[in-house]
Amino acid sequence: MRAWAVVENGKPLQELEWPTPEPTGTEVLLEVTHCGVCHSDIHIWEGHYDLGGGKVMNLQDRGVVLPLAMGHEIVGRVVKLGPDATGVKVGDLRIVFPWVGCGVCDACLAEDDNMCLKGRSLGVYQNGGYGTHVVAPHPRHLVDPGTLDPAVAATYACSGITVYSAINKVMPISPDEPIVLVGAGGLGMNAIAVLKAMKHRNIISVDVSAEKRDAALNAGATKALDGSGEGVAQRIIDAAGGPVLAVIDLVNGTASARFAFDALRKGGKLIQVGLFGGELTIPLPYMPIRALTVQGSYVGNPKELRALVKLAQDGDLAALPVATVPQSQAYEALMRLRDGKVNGRIVLRADAA
Ligand SMILES: [Zn+2]
Ligand SMILES: [Zn+2]
Repeated sequence: MRAWAVVENGKPLQELEWPTPEPTGTEVLLEVTHCGVCHSDIHIWEGHYDLGGGKVMNLQDRGVVLPLAMGHEIVGRVVKLGPDATGVKVGDLRIVFPWVGCGVCDACLAEDDNMCLKGRSLGVYQNGGYGTHVVAPHPRHLVDPGTLDPAVAATYACSGITVYSAINKVMPISPDEPIVLVGAGGLGMNAIAVLKAMKHRNIISVDVSAEKRDAALNAGATKALDGSGEGVAQRIIDAAGGPVLAVIDLVNGTASARFAFDALRKGGKLIQVGLFGGELTIPLPYMPIRALTVQGSYVGNPKELRALVKLAQDGDLAALPVATVPQSQAYEALMRLRDGKVNGRIVLRADAA
């Protein structure tokens, strides 16, 4: 197999020739047809996350080993099954759930793989989709994209389930109850599309950019509010007709977390998704008196990936714009993303796909 791998952090990806893995046990070997280039790939390639205040989280200290084929938004065709793998056959096209864990703990057995304490995510801790082949540990991590465009379906494995799982955490909620989405970038636009497909009718988008607010309105947000300056919580409350039950913060920085928290009503939930960073200091009596929930949300689980694909199959889930480029241009694609030149998603495409 060939891979376009990180050999040294911050240096160009190298095309390497590796032995094609042999699937054992329940493993399934797939030939990669599509792989999305995600913003978190830039951090993995750089080798660190900036935690603010001069603090850095080094990914090699966290168990990321080089060389690594990144890529966690993968669609591929089954080419070989391990002796204990059932439920798929050679030739099947599948979305690969990448947020795999140890496979044996209670979280993994309950299909909450993304909550496993020994995460083995594809494209992070083991080789992912920036290569010609990838190994899925178990057939239950494979989801049939059906008639969906595989380039779009690939993005459901990360950006798709990230917003789906966050929305899931505030559901069920009446379709006319306001849901506030902070941030109208890629995730925010995806969240509007998912909420619309779920027939939710009251979506308030908050963003500092007038251009992004217009885009949110065009995509179907009920209202779009300016998230800059003072008084944002009050603007949300005014627009919603009162304090709100649900805020999903896709930015999650010091300022947005503050106004998101301040806009909550009794029983309200703040779901924190973004990795902008910073901190939140809250008056503790509000938590019990208002019975509030502040909950983090990180990617999603295989059940949510299947539910999202079903929603896309059955409903009217607007696809985010994708542009495909050959796999061999993985590094150029990564650099375009880093330089902010990507609208929607770049998806790597195998030559044969
Ligand atoms: Zn991602
Ligand atoms: Zn586990």
